[in-house]
Amino acid sequence: MTEKYMLKCPDCGKIIPDRYTNVCPGGCTGLIRANYRKTQLDIQPLPGVFRFSDWLPVTGHLPSDAGPVTYKSEVLARELGLSHLYIGFSGYWPERGAQIESCSFKELEALPTTVRMKEKGNGILQISSAGNTGRAFCQVSAITGAPVVVVVPESAVDRLWTTAPAENICLITVDGDYTDSIGFGNAVCSIPGIVAEGGARNVARRDGMGTVMLDGTVTAGRLPDHHFQAVGSGTGGIAAWEAAMRLIGDGRFGTDLPSLHLAQNEPFVPMMNAWQDNRREIIPETDMPDARHAVSQVYADVLTNREPPYSISGGVYDALSATGGTMDGITNVQATEAEKIFVDAEGIDPDPAASVCVASLIKAVETGAVGKDDYILLNITGGGYRRVAEDKDRFPVEPIFSVKGGAAVDEIRRDIEAWVNTHA
Ligand SMILES: *Cc1c(COP(=O)(O)O)cnc(C)c1O
Ligand SMILES: [Zn+2]
Repeated sequence: MTEKYMLKCPDCGKIIPDRYTNVCPGGCTGLIRANYRKTQLDIQPLPGVFRFSDWLPVTGHLPSDAGPVTYKSEVLARELGLSHLYIGFSGYWPERGAQIESCSFKELEALPTTVRMKEKGNGILQISSAGNTGRAFCQVSAITGAPVVVVVPESAVDRLWTTAPAENICLITVDGDYTDSIGFGNAVCSIPGIVAEGGARNVARRDGMGTVMLDGTVTAGRLPDHHFQAVGSGTGGIAAWEAAMRLIGDGRFGTDLPSLHLAQNEPFVPMMNAWQDNRREIIPETDMPDARHAVSQVYADVLTNREPPYSISGGVYDALSATGGTMDGITNVQATEAEKIFVDAEGIDPDPAASVCVASLIKAVETGAVGKDDYILLNITGGGYRRVAEDKDRFPVEPIFSVKGGAAVDEIRRDIEAWVNTHA
C-alpha cells in the first residue's frame, strides 16, 4: 500500500481508493472504514487535531489550533472517589489549551472533512444541522475560506456564528423542523457541485472525532477501561471504538477495548430502548413513541437523532457488543444536577450534551459499574461557551435564502447555482 490509507468495506471486504467515497460501490450498507498504512501512531508537529494526522484520511492540514485536549481530573475525581479520571475536553478553554472556538467536538470532524473534500472530492460541502455541526463547518469556512452550504430550521439560526468574519457560507433557512431542513438539504445536493458531507458514513468525520480517544490514551499512557460519551446519532461512540481498535493494533497502549458507556437524554432514548431489549433493530413505535413530542422535551437537543446508524454493520450496536458497552438514559434533572457539580468542580461550562455524559458517569459510580481505580475517559464533547464569549467577537451567520417547509428546491435552484458559480 503506497497510499497513506485506503477505504475498506466491512460487509464485502473490498478495498476502495478514496474519491470522497462514503458508501461501498458494491452497494453494501455497512460503514466503510479507513485502513491506515501506519499501524503505530506518531504525534505529528502539526497544529490542533492534525497532530493525529497519521490516522486522519487527509495528507494536508489546516492552520487551526482546534484539537482534543485531555487532563487528569482532580476535584471531580476526588468527589466521585475515582483515582484515574481523565477528562477529554472539546471546546474553548485556553487555560487548558483547548482552542475549539465553535465549542464542540463537531469542529474535530469539520476540519479533516474540509481537507478531505479538497484532496479527494470535487465540490462544495453541504451540511444539514440544527446546531453544533452547522456552526463547526461555518467556523472552518471562516478560517479557510472554503465554501459551504448549510441548511437549518429557521428557529436554529441564532446558533450559527463564527469567531472570524465569513464570506463563503450559503446559509439556507427552512421554515419547518429539523426533518424538513434535512429534506431540503438533500434536495440541494442535486445541484451540480454541491456534495453531501456524509454524516456517520464520512470517515473523516468519524476519525476526526476519534482523536478524543487517541488523545486520552496518549495522555494517560494506556487505553482507558471505560469511556463515557453522550450520543445522538452515536457516530461519536462508533468513532471512539474504531480509534480504540487502532490503538490496540499499535501495540503500546493495551490489549483490551474500553467499555463504551453511552448515554441519551430522556424521554428521547431510542437506542437505549433497543439496546436494553437486546435488539439490533430500532422499532419506532416501541423505542421512540411520539418522537416529535419527546424530542421537544429533552435538555440536550443535539442528542435527538431519529435515524441513528445503530443497526448497520460497524454501527452503534456492533460498537456496544464488541466493547461490552452500556446505554443509559439520563433525565433532564439528572443532567442539570450533574452540570452544577461539573461546573463547581472543574470550572468550565459544559454543553448540555456533555452534562448528560457527566450524569451517566455519576450513576455508574453509584451503581458500581465502574471501579474506583479503573481508568476512565470522560468525553466532554462540548463546552466553554461562556469563556469564548468573553474572549472573542461572534459574527452571526446571515441567511442567503429562506424557504418554506416542504418547498421544492427548484424555486431557488437558479439562485443557488449562481451562488455556487461565484464561490466555487
Ligand atoms: C453532536 C453532539 C453529540 C452527539 O454526537 P453523535 O456523534 O451525534 O452521537 C454530543 N455532544 C455534543 C456537544 C454534540 O455536539
Ligand atoms: Zn461492500
